[in-house]
Amino acid sequence: MSIILDGAKIAGEIRQSVRDEAADFKNKKGIVPGLAVVLVGEDPASQVYVGRKAKACAEAGFLSREYRLPAATLEGELLRLIDDLNKDILIHGILVQLPLPAHISTHKIIAAIDPMKDVDGFHPYNVGGLVSGSPVFIPCTPRGIMELISRTGIELAGKEAVVVGRSNIVGKPIALLLLERHATVTICHSRTKNLPQVTARADVLVAAVGRPHMITGGMVKKGAVVIDVGVNRLESGKLAGDVAFEEVCAKASYITPVPGGVGPMTIAMLMRNTLDAALQMVS
Ligand code: NDP
Repeated sequence: MSIILDGAKIAGEIRQSVRDEAADFKNKKGIVPGLAVVLVGEDPASQVYVGRKAKACAEAGFLSREYRLPAATLEGELLRLIDDLNKDILIHGILVQLPLPAHISTHKIIAAIDPMKDVDGFHPYNVGGLVSGSPVFIPCTPRGIMELISRTGIELAGKEAVVVGRSNIVGKPIALLLLERHATVTICHSRTKNLPQVTARADVLVAAVGRPHMITGGMVKKGAVVIDVGVNRLESGKLAGDVAFEEVCAKASYITPVPGGVGPMTIAMLMRNTLDAALQMVS
């Protein structure tokens, strides 16, 4: 039977230590970390995420500013807002909630963010840093996953790590972070042949696909650490991960639940990155 990696509890501990450090920083330097979150359009899921980020900021004692712009906002208007936020000395982190409406170039917008304020870690400068092993900001979800893996005490050097999913926000960065820790990493995607044989090799298996319950017990090696990134809304309205939790539980040594695993870690790491951004500004 697996040990459940309680992301909600671990994230709570991280948020508490961020709050304490931020209070200390304010006392010593008079600086309050500031995060600006920009949302364009009315995507319901994005609205929920933005609300959660603002709440986490308030709890951490940060300055939080929300910019909720209409879906028809022009690319030029958004670029001007980013430029203003880049210059704003009260703002240390800028996050543009994705996805953006189709008429706006995501690449152009992300590239316009000052890399030193890019707390999502998506700017090409930070992506390059991740590839070369010296990132300024690590994207929040992969950073949260690495923290969860570190809590298992597993030594990653020489282990087989398999990542299912190759997105820029989860699959690729987590593969790079595992590689940096000397795991032997395989990245799988929709064209991978014999997926169950590949996943069954994994000492550490990360599922970031977006297909409910696709990782079944037969695809998992006994004793593997299984990290479920997927968030899927079932017809019943319930949330489900990419991993068939009950049957994989019988084989894995550690497993993350959905909800309450990777999700809360993402927000905790956003707070950590924002505090880091503020600290870096004075160092
Ligand atoms: P994307 O849709 O960008 O990427 C999905 C990846 O899965 C792609 O690389 C795709 O391959 C691959 N894939 C699709 N079908 C299969 C298949 N049958 N076999 C193997 N690989 C497959 O998703 P994201 O990375 O953005 O998100 C993945 C999941 O994680 C989603 O459920 C999302 O909601 C969740 N998520 C959760 C977060 C959290 O904080 N908990 C944060 C971010 C995401 P290909 O490239 O070939 O198309």
